[in-house]
Amino acid sequence: MSQPENEKNPVFGWFGPAAGAAIFRIIKDFGPLSRAEIVRRTGLSKSTVSLHAEKLLKMGLVAEDQSQRNGLGRKGLALRFAAEAGLIIAVDLGATGVEVGLCDLEARIIACRSESLSVLAGPQPVMERIFALIDGLLASYRDGPRKLFGIGMGLPGPVEFGSGLPVSPPIMPGWHRYPVRQALESRYGCPAYIDNDVNVMACGERHSGLGREAENFIFVKIGTGIGAGIFCDGKLYRGTQGCAGDIGHVGVDTLDTPCPCGNKGCLESVAAGPAIARMAREAAANGASELLSQRLREAGALTAADVGDLADHGDLACVEMIQQSGRLIGQVLAKLVNFFNPSLIIIGGGVANLGGRFLAAIREQIYQRSLPLATRDLAIKRSRLRERAGMIGAAAMALEEIFSHGKVMAMVVQEGKKGPASD
Ligand SMILES: [Zn+2]
Repeated sequence: MSQPENEKNPVFGWFGPAAGAAIFRIIKDFGPLSRAEIVRRTGLSKSTVSLHAEKLLKMGLVAEDQSQRNGLGRKGLALRFAAEAGLIIAVDLGATGVEVGLCDLEARIIACRSESLSVLAGPQPVMERIFALIDGLLASYRDGPRKLFGIGMGLPGPVEFGSGLPVSPPIMPGWHRYPVRQALESRYGCPAYIDNDVNVMACGERHSGLGREAENFIFVKIGTGIGAGIFCDGKLYRGTQGCAGDIGHVGVDTLDTPCPCGNKGCLESVAAGPAIARMAREAAANGASELLSQRLREAGALTAADVGDLADHGDLACVEMIQQSGRLIGQVLAKLVNFFNPSLIIIGGGVANLGGRFLAAIREQIYQRSLPLATRDLAIKRSRLRERAGMIGAAAMALEEIFSHGKVMAMVVQEGKKGPASD
């Protein structure tokens, strides 16, 4: 419901509902701000700022910053974003578990619940469990009534973002084009936004992780699979169909390990968690590592985490496996660095827990294989948000959509129809 006559006028700046939306964004991003400061930052007139400030206060999207009240009149109080005015539901669905959170409008987690759950059970039973967790959270929420603004959800497979439909997700049989978004929207009566888990985690990093300070960065998740989320000029880059960043099936030259996708030598098939576990089983079987053989006898199975643990105990075969995986990932990332020239690469996901040796091998290949100019100011760091990135990111992604310029403008138009702002 955009109204072209209210769009930003290139000569005279913002006016109409667009001015209201612009004022809101400035308060949200830089507040608390006094009305005088908003006039200075926007170039809008005092009366326009005052009118829209009243409207935004009435809508509950901003609040007066009472902490500054010392002899100031009401109009002298600074305005801040009212993050407590509503709730967001965040859903982080993984291959074997789900975490659901209730967040405020700054993506701060108020309460959360999780449980083990296999996506292999199919969409209907999984969505039923997610509904039960959300219902439980909402029922236990006793902090006064708050509007539910929206839902953000990440899932472990490709998603067509515009429609909110999973598309042929390799590890989620039965989920192809299942209406996840529609199911959430019709049950909770608010907008829902669905994306793949990696893009969602990248949103979390941008919102409250290392990506806060970087306009151009790549978040790489290394776990059962390998994927990347790309932030370009401060915005998530999804590509035409929403599958940008799917680096797990980029081929690594000279390798011909078969991949479930049908191709050979895909990065994921030679460097992700299952590939490391496979190398570990081989080393246990052929006697290359006595510690791995022993661990296999004790535990009955080997994982990438075992390799990390035994590398820390000085097992050379395990150290070599970690370095091998890191080098292969680094080789592919070096190509991305040459192509995209980011200032930061954030490494996350379960396999990132392999620690310093793993990161060092990734770094070595990137620095060795990328243009010197591209790596001059490039930082390669491990995620600090770790597992939290998924839930914070789901909320942050939803908030980015809900408070987009166009949507806030529509809210201001809606409020205008209710009558004059001043009472
Ligand atoms: Zn593949």
